Amino acid sequence: MGRRWLRSPATPRKSAWLPALSPIKRQAAERGQAGRGAKLCIKVKGRQQRFVALGLEDAPLNFVQVEYFEEDTTTLVCFGPDAVAVDVEDLAAAQRYLDRLVPGLEVLEAAGYNWVDDPYSQSTWPMHYTSDLTESLAELQRPEGLLHLAGSDFANGWGGFIDGAIESGLDAARAVSTSLQAPAAGPELAATPSLPAS
Ligand SMILES: Cc1cc2nc3c(=O)[nH]c(=O)nc-3n(C[C@H](O)[C@H](O)[C@H](O)COP(=O)(O)OP(=O)(O)OC[C@H]3O[C@@H](n4cnc5c(N)ncnc54)[C@H](O)[C@@H]3O)c2cc1C
Repeated sequence: MGRRWLRSPATPRKSAWLPALSPIKRQAAERGQAGRGAKLCIKVKGRQQRFVALGLEDAPLNFVQVEYFEEDTTTLVCFGPDAVAVDVEDLAAAQRYLDRLVPGLEVLEAAGYNWVDDPYSQSTWPMHYTSDLTESLAELQRPEGLLHLAGSDFANGWGGFIDGAIESGLDAARAVSTSLQAPAAGPELAATPSLPAS
């Protein structure tokens, strides 16, 4: 990596940055992003028909879809709007969530993780607040001295998906590679934009 730094801070607001990041980067980091959803994989008994089921907007799990078939079981992928409302360790709870949407399925196993409670993630898949992209995307993509940010939150296409993380990582790696071949520059490559007056 030489003297350039590549960082993928899904949550840079907990990190100390020296020198401080630009005001727009800091504001974007403080605001974070809106994704607080739940994702749970549930294995049910029997080889089920292929289906997609949608629930009410405030149901713990309101999207359920057949994902994989095994010999005599079926694995479902399930999403809900609020990670706090879904106990990813509780099989009986998984059964209750499914009963509301697709009665008659028997839950055998469930697997998930509460990313909202994870100290480094503090959220789930990236969902931007209104005006996030307009106000801060270009600045988040702008290297600051030796520091390059990379991650799905900063992607041009497929932001919020794994594809966006790969795209942004490739872009940042190319930018680092190019800058390593360039003659040595000062710590700041461009003037730091400031926050618009409010
Ligand atoms: C529950 C869930 C389901 C998803 N489902 C899909 C899906 O089906 N399809 C899809 O395409 N995408 C999905 N996504 C989105 C996809 O997983 C992310 O967009 C992608 O993983 C983001 O990659 P990243 O490298 O940008 O960030 P991350 O994978 O978040 O990597 C950031 C890393 O930085 C670390 N970190 C943060 N702060 C610090 C710190 N201060 N010090 C050290 N390390 C730190 C974190 O621990 C983490 O390892 C899902 C995401 C979640 C949470």
